[in-house]
Amino acid sequence: MNSRPPQTSPRAPTIIELLDALVGLGHLKPLHRDEIAARAMQQRAHLQRQRLAARFHGAEAHEPTDAEVIASFHFPLATDASDHLDEDRVVEVQARMMGVPYAHIDPLKLSPDLITSTVSRPFARRHCVVPLESGDGTIRVAMADPFDETLVDELERITGRRVEALMASRKAIQKIITEVYGFQSSVTAAEEQVRGGSKGPAQPGVDLGNLEQYFRLKKVDEIEATDRHVVNAVEYLLHYAFDNRASDIHVEPRREEGVVRMRIDGVLHEVYRIPKVVLPAIVSRIKMMSRMDVAERRKPQDGRIKTAAGAAGGEGREVELRVSTLPAAFGEKIVLRIFDPEQILVDLPDLGMYPEELEAYERFIARPNGLLLVTGPTGSGKTTTLYSTLRAIATPQVNVVTIEDPIEMVVEEFNQVAVQHKIDVTFPTMLRTFLRQDPDIIMVGEIRDAETAEYAVQAALTGHLVLSTLHTNDSPSTIVRLRELGVDKFLVNSTLVGVVAQRLARKVCQNCKVEETLTADQVALLEIPMRGGRPPELKVARGEGCPRCRGTGLFGRTGIFEVLDVTDGVRRLVAEEADAASIARQARADGMRTLREVAVHKLAAGITSFNEVVRVTVQEESR
Ligand SMILES: [Zn+2]
Repeated sequence: MNSRPPQTSPRAPTIIELLDALVGLGHLKPLHRDEIAARAMQQRAHLQRQRLAARFHGAEAHEPTDAEVIASFHFPLATDASDHLDEDRVVEVQARMMGVPYAHIDPLKLSPDLITSTVSRPFARRHCVVPLESGDGTIRVAMADPFDETLVDELERITGRRVEALMASRKAIQKIITEVYGFQSSVTAAEEQVRGGSKGPAQPGVDLGNLEQYFRLKKVDEIEATDRHVVNAVEYLLHYAFDNRASDIHVEPRREEGVVRMRIDGVLHEVYRIPKVVLPAIVSRIKMMSRMDVAERRKPQDGRIKTAAGAAGGEGREVELRVSTLPAAFGEKIVLRIFDPEQILVDLPDLGMYPEELEAYERFIARPNGLLLVTGPTGSGKTTTLYSTLRAIATPQVNVVTIEDPIEMVVEEFNQVAVQHKIDVTFPTMLRTFLRQDPDIIMVGEIRDAETAEYAVQAALTGHLVLSTLHTNDSPSTIVRLRELGVDKFLVNSTLVGVVAQRLARKVCQNCKVEETLTADQVALLEIPMRGGRPPELKVARGEGCPRCRGTGLFGRTGIFEVLDVTDGVRRLVAEEADAASIARQARADGMRTLREVAVHKLAAGITSFNEVVRVTVQEESR
């Protein structure tokens, strides 16, 4: 075990050297370096006092590191003001200066089993270590201080393997410890309870025949959904999802065990495996939180959970989860869809419109009456646009009412009604009722039939601003669709103020983007006009994949908007009952940029990728 060559630990850079390196690498502005240098000592003392006041125990009461001090200033990155210089980035630079490998910790690549079976939680917490992977007689360990030889020796003794030490920030390591040990130990404790206190299979040879399931049922019932360990496990699961920007959590029963998967930026990742005996309790707990009938296991159910994404995430913003169950072959499967208000309610300029489009859109919504339509396929961000718009115009002086199917997110300022066909609460019946409720602004989830279209237009005609969505591909064809729904062309002309078609495109990860030039074929596929008889040389960005984007090369999403202004020219064509192509030509002559044109703009600006532009403007349109 002592084959490790004795190494003399390199001198850690001073905080000034570190700050200079951060400026040199373009992470920090010289102005901010000077400010940190001048106030570092004061800030360190301040952080230390804060910690003592919060009565952090054990390792967490350590003296603040240089990286922690620098990160606590929250200065924006010199290269990207929307992001700030965090502890991880500082430690990465520190590691580079000391010639030690830096560990990008990707929670989804970790093995909870390896971590919890290698070191105990108190040990991991006290020494700030987390095992990453093992193989070939070695084990890679992320450590806050990779030069702590005593600790490395101790780890080699415990694991019987050669330790390869990597450097990571204290914050990143402590977060993993909380999540992994928190979830794992809760599940293990719950499992032990089911198995009657003894760890390991207390019922050897038990498989999942019906007989055994019946036999086990009683045992499983001993562990209640209100059991502290189960409650904790579900809490950890939710925090983990919020921290990793997951949009959906899938809890799935398999033949031998339960599997938890999470969708992040559109891709499902397996996160945890749960012993089969604990799964029903976890499922019951989630059902209980969603106010479902816990005893009903054979019928699909749906419900909601409203929760504060605080604690692990930081600020206590409210997050809504829509939960549904499905009785599958090996038990109930649960899917939790996460509705984060930060994603659904944004400031209008953050939707992703270019200034020209935003200017036209703001003109539409400033109107006291009229019909504004947002169109696009499912998952194109229509809800975000409508909710964000409503919030932008909902002042205490106006009455906003909505009829939705279903309510995507509950917002206090809106008076929201959910469609319930059984009791005749539908789009058209509610529209009629609304008119007696003195509304100023009405939002109708979707116009899908002639009756709804008729009432929506009536409301717009009688002095209300009506917002709704339609299921069409682009904005010109929306006008034609209104006519097909039986709306008189004169009514279209006197009510319609604008149409917005939209798509959501994933953005290129700024952390791993590289430049590339589109091939002639790619340029042709996007129908980009030739220049001087040749396809233009178009430089675009592509993400190579890094831990931040989990190897996808994409991070976050942006809206692509086609904003059609109902100009005099467009009105004339509506009166002539012209087709969508003619309306499109006129709208473009009047300044409209098509979805494709706007998407190509975002491609050329390095915001989104070629594949995304093809996905949202070529594939979706040909459907
Ligand atoms: Zn990346």
